[in-house]
Amino acid sequence: MFIDIHTHKKQPESGAMSVVSLDMMDDASQDLELLKARDILIEGKSLLQQQFLSVGLHPWHIDKSFEKRIRQLENAVSSDFRVIMIGEAGLDRVCGSDYALQKAAFIAQVAVSEKYGLPMIIHCVKAFDDLLAIRKAERVTQKWILHGFRGKPQQADQLVSHGIDISFGEKYNADSVRFVSKDKLWLETDESTKAIGEIYASIAEIKRMDIVELEKEIEKKFKLMLSRQQSPSVYDNENLWVK
Ligand SMILES: [Zn+2]
Repeated sequence: MFIDIHTHKKQPESGAMSVVSLDMMDDASQDLELLKARDILIEGKSLLQQQFLSVGLHPWHIDKSFEKRIRQLENAVSSDFRVIMIGEAGLDRVCGSDYALQKAAFIAQVAVSEKYGLPMIIHCVKAFDDLLAIRKAERVTQKWILHGFRGKPQQADQLVSHGIDISFGEKYNADSVRFVSKDKLWLETDESTKAIGEIYASIAEIKRMDIVELEKEIEKKFKLMLSRQQSPSVYDNENLWVK
């Protein structure tokens, strides 16, 4: 089973399990309802077999309404058991939204992540110093996965040494792929039109790993992540995994 740890595609992909990212700033409540409706259409269990959700406030879209959105986010987290991660959330010094508001919104999401015991999927552009400072100041205990990493090995090293995992997508620095150990590495499609299997194939080749070995390694990590979550023990149920 391929695990796509971060995607915006709402259509499930055969042979893969994905974490679909919904942006609360973009009124994700509609998407939640849409996915719920389809869930019922396909016997009410298929979504859990193939798609989980991450919900967050994307730094690109942060504005003064973020506090209201945080409440909606908390609502989704506490009422929808498909939500297994917070994000994508983070900091982006290159985008147009106000950086001080981004920071405030990110810290608020870190608090939700810690309160509900959910890991975070992180978006970070040219703001790694602040990201690491916030992780330290907030005494973060949850796993953070830095998504769409394209940086150099030195930067990967810095993140990993602070306990942050790394996710690679369609574009990456091959030296960094070689550098990040398989127990810290995740794969994603994000906005790419490529199938997650293609991403696995190219990363396995760079790491000179057997693709099945890579598949098993990430699946093991993913199951462990789910088993640590406080909410429904439904995730422990092996029957929910498509074999
Ligand atoms: Zn994304």
